Amino acid sequence: MGEPFLADFAALSRIGATPGGGVDRQAGTAEHGKARRWLVEWFGRHGLRPVVDRAGNLFGTVEWVPGRPYVLAGSHLDSQPTAGRFDGAYGVLAAAHAAVSLRREVEAGDLVPARNLAVVDWFNEEGARFSPSLMGSGVYCGTLDADAVLAVTDARGVTVEEALRDSGFAGTGTPPAAAAAVEIHIEQGRTLEDEGCAIGVVTGNWTARKYAITVHGDQSHTGATHMADRRDALVGASRLVLAARQLTGSFEPGQLLASVGRFTVEPNSPVVVPARVRLDVDLRSQEPDVLEKAHQQLMAEIAAVDGDGEVRVSIDSASVRPSTAYPLEGVELAEAAIAVTGLSSRRMLTMAGHDSVNLKDVVPTVMLFVPSRNGISHNEAEYTADADLLNGVTALTSVTERLLAIDLAGDLGGT
Ligand SMILES: [Zn+2]
Repeated sequence: MGEPFLADFAALSRIGATPGGGVDRQAGTAEHGKARRWLVEWFGRHGLRPVVDRAGNLFGTVEWVPGRPYVLAGSHLDSQPTAGRFDGAYGVLAAAHAAVSLRREVEAGDLVPARNLAVVDWFNEEGARFSPSLMGSGVYCGTLDADAVLAVTDARGVTVEEALRDSGFAGTGTPPAAAAAVEIHIEQGRTLEDEGCAIGVVTGNWTARKYAITVHGDQSHTGATHMADRRDALVGASRLVLAARQLTGSFEPGQLLASVGRFTVEPNSPVVVPARVRLDVDLRSQEPDVLEKAHQQLMAEIAAVDGDGEVRVSIDSASVRPSTAYPLEGVELAEAAIAVTGLSSRRMLTMAGHDSVNLKDVVPTVMLFVPSRNGISHNEAEYTADADLLNGVTALTSVTERLLAIDLAGDLGGT
């Protein structure tokens, strides 16, 4: 038991592999397309029907009850530029293996499904090459517009539409209607490992605020401009980087996470006082009040940098991901389904965003975690032990089995 999953995971991990043991499969690149073609072939060998929708989401469907909606089980195959091989890909492959086990149960007469099953690889979860993140699931859930998303460009001006076409996944298929959704993912934190717990059942997500900011200065000669005449965009931007870090000191340790994750200096020449810096600030907290206070403080810092007169600061876009709950009925269903397998579980929040965060607002959704060694993620050193991967497949299969049989008609959760 288990070896076919590990062999498949090793094969998938070789696509877009980096020398440091990770992968580079950014959305819509050739390597991403290769990984997705590998999955389509896998679907073909295991009797799942591939469907690609307009937003580039890839589904592998099994229809037992014609006309009935589907349980969607999956995650994402795209990655950050130098990423670990587990983030997203694990959840897609775990769902594929769960689907095949469940199909065998149905064929053996051990499971009578009330609905159908689709494995899903959501397009561009990571948002590394094309922004925003959670793109494909956002279109599926109706929070993003398909036309707008297809027109989004990467840093080189390539649109999502072109990237999907070039990578072989420009789809026109109708995505399966969802009755419920389930996603399994590596924790990307160290709680499960520290507690020796096999599976996390997610009850809610941290709240997040993201800002795209431009600091505007004035381009001049580093060797010939008097200090009094300089309008140095990089000095203003650097103050904001430090401000983001210092914000975290206003709260109890662990209450606020803050970073500038992207920073672009223009024109970025050794002898030019920078004209413009673009930076992305990312603030997260478990507590909405903390995030709101941090937001106010950041706005005050921005006003102070802007008000000093050397540079101007514009906020080009700002978004809020509210903290919302996963439906309790789904949490309880998952706990019961995991208990049957003999694995341990605990309730927890997700700090990172996931496609299931979108899904849970439109259909009953369950999110599960497996341990991540040292909590390392978005890093080639990301690691989850084989035994933990296999436990996750077992848990996911059991949860999906119940979702196929039981109607979760209750609340979708809420804020
Ligand atoms: Zn992920």
